[in-house]
Amino acid sequence: MTPPAAAAAPQVALLTSAGMGHLTPFLRLAAALASRGCGVTFITPTPVVSAAEARHVSDLVASSDGVRPLEFPLLPFDSSSAASTDPFFLQFEAIRRSAALLGPLLSSAAPRLSALICDVSLISAVLPVAAAVPLPTYVLFTSSAKMLSLCVSFPQIAAASLPAILKIPGLAEDLPLRSIPRPLRDPGNLFTTQFVENGKVMPHADGIVINTWEALEPATLAALNTGKVVPGLPPVVAIGPLLPEHSQPNSGGGDEDSLAWLDGQPTGSVVYLSFGSRTALSPEQTRELAAGLESSGCQFLWVVKTKKLDKEEQEEQAMEELFGDGFLRRVEGRGRVVKGWVDQGAILTHPAVGGFVSHCGWNSVTEAALRGIRVLAWPQLGDQRINAGVVEKSGLGEWPMEWGWEGERVLVQGEEIGRRLRRFMASPAAAAAKVKDETVRAAAAGGLESLIARFTKSRPT
Ligand code: UDP
Ligand code: UDP
Repeated sequence: MTPPAAAAAPQVALLTSAGMGHLTPFLRLAAALASRGCGVTFITPTPVVSAAEARHVSDLVASSDGVRPLEFPLLPFDSSSAASTDPFFLQFEAIRRSAALLGPLLSSAAPRLSALICDVSLISAVLPVAAAVPLPTYVLFTSSAKMLSLCVSFPQIAAASLPAILKIPGLAEDLPLRSIPRPLRDPGNLFTTQFVENGKVMPHADGIVINTWEALEPATLAALNTGKVVPGLPPVVAIGPLLPEHSQPNSGGGDEDSLAWLDGQPTGSVVYLSFGSRTALSPEQTRELAAGLESSGCQFLWVVKTKKLDKEEQEEQAMEELFGDGFLRRVEGRGRVVKGWVDQGAILTHPAVGGFVSHCGWNSVTEAALRGIRVLAWPQLGDQRINAGVVEKSGLGEWPMEWGWEGERVLVQGEEIGRRLRRFMASPAAAAAKVKDETVRAAAAGGLESLIARFTKSRPT
C-alpha cells in the first residue's frame, strides 16, 4: 500500500475517554491510521484514571511515527454529588464538562486538522464544540454493532417506561431488559443520562466508526446502514478487525513467564481465563472458579483480578486465602494463576491456547476472533451480555446463559464450572476456525481505507 503524499495526507485528531476498553481501540486505530500515512494527533484528557493508561499512550507515541500526543487538561470536577461512583463514568463526566476547552486546542492544531474521531461516551458534549471550529466529526463506537443499535435506539425506547423485552427496530432478535447494561435500567443514573444524550446526537455526526466487520455482524450492520434502526444515521463504517499493536514495550511486558509456561504445554490444551481490565469476580465466585478449574482437569492460565481499579487496592489478598487451602499446590504444573497485567494479544496467539473463558469485553471478542480461539462467554456487566450474544450467533463460542450475571444467581458452583469447562475444551474448534478465516479476510478488505477516503473528501477548505 502506498501512503498518500504528505501534502495531501489527512490530519486526524483522536479523542479518547477512559478505561482500557475505550483506550485500546483508539490506540489501535491511531497506529493503523499512522501506518497508512495519516497524521494523527492523539488527545489525552488529563489527569488520566490510571497510570497504566498514560503508559499505553506513551508506548504508542514512541512506536508509531506520525502520532503526536496532545494533552487536554480537564477542569476540576467535584464528583461527590454525581449519580454514580464508577471511576470511569466519573471521568467521562469530567471530560464532558471540560469540552468547551477543546475548541481552542482543535482550532490551533498544526498542521490543520481534517477530522476529529471522538469516543462515543463524549460525543454529545464534543459535537457542538467541533462544529464551531468547524471540523468534520466521527464517532468511534467502542463495542459491537449490536450494542450500537441499542445506543442509537435507546433514547426513543427510554422515552416510555422500559418493557421487559426491548424491540430494537430493524433487528430480528429482541433484547431482554435483563441483558442490557444495568445502569440503563435506572433513568437517574449518570451513565444513563450520558448514554441517552450521546445516542440522540449520533445522527448529527459525519460518520460512525466501529471495530466490527460484515461477516461477524452482517444483519445488524445492514439494518444500521439502511435506516432501519434509526432513520438519518450517518454511514456506519466497519473498520474491523483493528489489529493489536505490534509492541508494548512498557505496558505489555512483565509477564514473559506466562509465555514461557505456555511453551511447555501441548498445542491447543490450555484454557485462558480473563475478565478484562475492570471486572473483578467476588471472592466467593473466585473460589468456586478455582474449584471448577481443579475438578475440570484442564490445563489453564487464569488472570485474576480482585478490584475494579487495582490502584485502589490496599493490600494484596493472599493467594491461598483467595482460592482456598492448597489449590495452587494441587494444580502446580497444569495451571498457572497470574495477578496483574498480561499481554493478552501474545497469549491468544500462542499455539498452546485452545479456549478462552471471557467476560466478552468487545476488544477481547475481536482478539479471539482474529486468532480463531473458541470462547466460553461469561459476561459480568455492561455491554458484555449483548456481546456474548454476538459470540454465540457468529459461531465463535458458546454462552451458558444460566450462569446469570450481576447477582441474578448467587454463585455458579465449582462442580458445574468444571463439567462445562471439560465439555468446552473437548468441543470441536471448526466453527471458531471459520470465524478466524472470515476475520482475516475482513482485515484485508479495506474498511480503514474507505474511512481515510472520507477524510480526504470532507476536508474543510
Ligand atoms: N488486556 C490485556 N491484559 C490484561 C487484561 C486486558 O492485554 O491483563 C487487554 C485485552 O487484550 C483487551 C483490553 O485489554 O484488548 C480489554 O478490553 P475489553 O474490551 O476486552 O474489556 P474491558 O477491560 O474493557 O472490560
Ligand atoms: N492496567 C492496564 N494496563 C496495564 C496495566 C494495568 O490497563 O499495562 C489496568 C489494571 O488492570 C488496573 C488499572 O489499569 O485496573 C490500573 O493499573 P495500575 O495499578 O498499573 O495503575 P496505577 O495504580 O499506576 O494508576
